[in-house]
Amino acid sequence: MPRASKAAKSAKSKPSKFTPVPPQAPGRASRPRALATYRAKRDFSSTPEPAGTVKGKTSAGGYFCIQKHLASHLHYDFRLEHRGVLLSWAVPKGPSPDPKVKRLAMQVEDHPVDYGDFEGVIPAGYGAGIVVLWDRGAWAPLVDDVDAALAKGHLPFVVRGDKLKGRWDLIRTGIAGQCGWLLAKQRDAWSGGGDPTVEQPESVKSGRDFAEILAHERRDPWPDQPPVRGGETGKLMRDIMLRASALRSRATRSPAANRARGVRAAPATDR
Ligand code: MN
Repeated sequence: MPRASKAAKSAKSKPSKFTPVPPQAPGRASRPRALATYRAKRDFSSTPEPAGTVKGKTSAGGYFCIQKHLASHLHYDFRLEHRGVLLSWAVPKGPSPDPKVKRLAMQVEDHPVDYGDFEGVIPAGYGAGIVVLWDRGAWAPLVDDVDAALAKGHLPFVVRGDKLKGRWDLIRTGIAGQCGWLLAKQRDAWSGGGDPTVEQPESVKSGRDFAEILAHERRDPWPDQPPVRGGETGKLMRDIMLRASALRSRATRSPAANRARGVRAAPATDR
């Protein structure tokens, strides 16, 4: 089945999955951007996400990351450091290294640069779910003026991550007004076959997947009410919660289980 047409179809039928915000006005490249929308959406007394500060850096390029986020829908948050914050796009299907496959990317509110290292469980509120730091590295624009490129609706750039490399484009479309973009690979040495979202699902920070990150929490943050219940995403979440609880009980059981089988802990010889 042609993946590109499927992506375009679901993009058209469900443009309201995310809470899009209009991009900030261009032409003020000397000024840092702000985090008011990011902060207004979150209660920092109940989420482990950082409140963040706007960094002073205004030079072109910088940190780049992708956070795989299982919330009301599974998506990949694609972030590029610019003018002291992380420009952010939610990419429902994740990036494709195939230049023929253009992926819908909904621009969302700027995030703090501190957010770029975040991985873990958001127990409640906005974005409740699980975040995997899926890729990180550096990016650089292939234009002189990033703000002008954003205003024009075409940002060509290069990334050097653990998983993604080479030249990419972000291109604004008519979908969902100013917020709908497409993320596409340019043809180069790193374009072509394979799907890193399938072949390399794990975190670049911890090596963990969704279930292992959830299992790392002492207890299930959603004993009665998972943050998503219906449809395919609900099923994915239930499977992850089951695996997490199995991993948790295996971790508590195994010392006793090992003793019962007569297996002794390895002696601490290196001290
Ligand atoms: Mn997200």
